[in-house]
Amino acid sequence: MLGYKAPSTVEEAIGILAGASGVAKILAGGTDLLVQLRSGRAKPDVIVDIKKIEGITGIRQHDGGFVIGAATPGAEIGECKALAQAWPGLVEAANLIGSTQVQGRASLAGNLCNASPAADSVPAMIAARATCVVVGPKGRREVPVESIATGPGRTSLTRGEFILEFHLPKRPPRAADAYLRFIPRTEMDIAVVGAAVNLTLDSVGVCSDACVVLGAVAPTAVFVPEAAGALIGSKCDDKALAALDAAARRACKPIDDKRGTIEYRTKVAGVMARRAAAIAYQRAGER
Ligand SMILES: Cc1cc2nc3c(=O)[nH]c(=O)nc-3n(C[C@H](O)[C@H](O)[C@H](O)COP(=O)(O)OP(=O)(O)OC[C@H]3O[C@@H](n4cnc5c(N)ncnc54)[C@H](O)[C@@H]3O)c2cc1C
Repeated sequence: MLGYKAPSTVEEAIGILAGASGVAKILAGGTDLLVQLRSGRAKPDVIVDIKKIEGITGIRQHDGGFVIGAATPGAEIGECKALAQAWPGLVEAANLIGSTQVQGRASLAGNLCNASPAADSVPAMIAARATCVVVGPKGRREVPVESIATGPGRTSLTRGEFILEFHLPKRPPRAADAYLRFIPRTEMDIAVVGAAVNLTLDSVGVCSDACVVLGAVAPTAVFVPEAAGALIGSKCDDKALAALDAAARRACKPIDDKRGTIEYRTKVAGVMARRAAAIAYQRAGER
């Protein structure tokens, strides 16, 4: 019979996860896990609901940056004005997940640890250079978000480990981000391509730092340093955007399926990256 535990401390949760005799699964919002349970894709022996752990939901400012509890639902992320002001791209990515009902539950950690190549918040978190605090039997470690997903449905987390919180760094002036995805429908669909761009401008509007990350075009989210390089030193003009588009297309290693051919996904990746860069540039210029 499937067991259910709802620990109220990190230590208790680690003890249950590490000591489980069969497969133990974390439950955050359950918007992936419950679907997988019903379809029989996931067959854990025990479910560990982390939402009763103090601080695992909520957003706070710290050292000029933000700490987001791992199980914080998308709705709460969208309602945090300070976060949306500093990281509009990350917030728009988190709020693209599912419907109003799904937003009431779906968390960043669930989106990351479900490890879908098409997860919407993941490229935006990576472009933001977010880190996550992983806790487990060996203690606590802070790692970049991109080190978690290792392939579709797989993560680098070891037995007994889970994500406690995400850290977003302090923003310099004139910095902004943007996330765009392409879906065949208007909502409630899986990204055919996702593109996140995070950039910083100098005092005359020249891009001094950039990070470009694509989703749904490879087994895990893809950093595109060449695309970032195309933006740095430019005012996001047509030439820079064309170079970024070409670099984004070169970085794609997509699958060919009913949702899009390799050629289609590759082309759309360039277009999404270019549009996201233009939005991030405009936002940064307005700060
Ligand atoms: C109708 C519908 C629409 C959706 N639309 C989208 C969409 O547009 N874009 C998108 O990206 N996703 C979408 N999803 C998928 C899902 O909502 C997201 O992936 C969501 O962010 C998962 O978060 P959760 O808190 O519900 O995760 P859960 O279902 O609770 O967990 C998901 C996985 O992550 C693990 N996990 C959860 N928290 C932790 C943690 N703290 N540490 C370690 N492991 C953890 C769980 O064990 C499980 O394996 C949709 C789902 C539904 C049902």
